[in-house]
Amino acid sequence: MDTTPDTAGGAARAAETGHARDFASVFDTPVTGRWSAPGRANLIGEHTDYNDGFVFPFAIDRRTVVTVGVRDDRLLRVASTFDESVHEISLDELDPARMDGWSAYVFGIAWALSIAPTHAASPSFAAAGGDLSTIDLSSVPGLDLFVTSDVPIGAGLSSSAALECSVAVAMTELWGLDVNRAALAAVGQLSENEAVGAPTGIMDQSASLLGQADSAVFLDCRSLDADVVDLGFDAAGLEILVVDTHVEHAHATGGYVERRTSCERGAEALGVSSLRDLDVDDLARAAEVLDDETFRRVRHVVTENQRVLDTVRTLRTEGAVAIGALLDASHVSMRDDFEISVPELDLAVSTAQAAGAVGARMTGGGFGGSAIALVRSADRDAVASAVTAAFAEAGFTAPTVFTVHPAEGARRDA
Ligand code: ADP
Ligand code: MG
Repeated sequence: MDTTPDTAGGAARAAETGHARDFASVFDTPVTGRWSAPGRANLIGEHTDYNDGFVFPFAIDRRTVVTVGVRDDRLLRVASTFDESVHEISLDELDPARMDGWSAYVFGIAWALSIAPTHAASPSFAAAGGDLSTIDLSSVPGLDLFVTSDVPIGAGLSSSAALECSVAVAMTELWGLDVNRAALAAVGQLSENEAVGAPTGIMDQSASLLGQADSAVFLDCRSLDADVVDLGFDAAGLEILVVDTHVEHAHATGGYVERRTSCERGAEALGVSSLRDLDVDDLARAAEVLDDETFRRVRHVVTENQRVLDTVRTLRTEGAVAIGALLDASHVSMRDDFEISVPELDLAVSTAQAAGAVGARMTGGGFGGSAIALVRSADRDAVASAVTAAFAEAGFTAPTVFTVHPAEGARRDA
């Protein structure tokens, strides 16, 4: 069990000391700079993003670091501590069909930037603002990129957005592109949707790009208005404990896509363009119109949107300790109505609650990944031990339990 609080510099240190392979052992170009972007935990607002609703994620103090050298040709080459290979593509041949594996997260950003001018009118790009129409990659130089990370992969903490956003801030700066952070989040989403083929929303990139210390990003996924809200965890002596269950999830397939389809079906049957257009008062009518399963999917999204609004309001009026019940209710809704939890996540949540957590819920897309618990610092070790013991008792794979602190978003480090 690792409950050592990480500092924001943890990833940078890991990048410098932790790995046998590094930039210089793979590439000949001189290092131009180093950029990093964090993973994220979603405090509340799950499966609301693609329903045009509200989410409230925060950037965590675990980061993906990309060290970059500028080439004198038009090649993009990328290596990672993730595997042994070096992947490459020409900037003159950017095409999602030529991208696969993890390097698609990197090359996809360049592709999405290259087509941004033709997408400038799409809803997310238009809402993000910024002058995407002027982006022109026809004469920018190639890059060598080396990736390290201490964001756990596939744990529901968005190592994918950390990778995309670290690369996106590096590319925009090195290529002199004038893209604001909101627009860059839309670029990341486009890349993940088209180059990687994962039909995800814009939440992860927004958190990774816009996050700030001890704050979360209140994002309206319809207007893309983003408000950085003070969490006040530091002053209240609160921390977030992450329980990585090691149960693997796969966004590109299966349940995630099914849930999206249910939401679309529900919205269509109720005559709204998205579930965002419903509120809690509409649920009685929804119960009459929809089959039981679709109704419960809809009820999750509608009540979850309300819980996000309530969380932001409660933080501002009563303080962080008062949001615990909303986190607990969110978990129940995901477990019973949206049915995206698994026994490991349920056990992590119920054990944390019983051991004194202020509130707890599964986080991320579901079907595995991580749970989060809001805990007083004094209770942190007891909650972590209780969860570890409960997993052993149940015969589950031992979880990894660690604290995260809401941290600063993507930035240049060197
Ligand atoms: P999550 O975002 O929850 O961690 P995803 O399945 O969305 O899970 O993204 C994980 C994928 O992102 C990995 O399988 C890999 O393809 C890519 N990835 C993430 N971090 C790295 C890294 N440091 N190096 C190479 N690829 C990475
Ligand atoms: Mg991801």
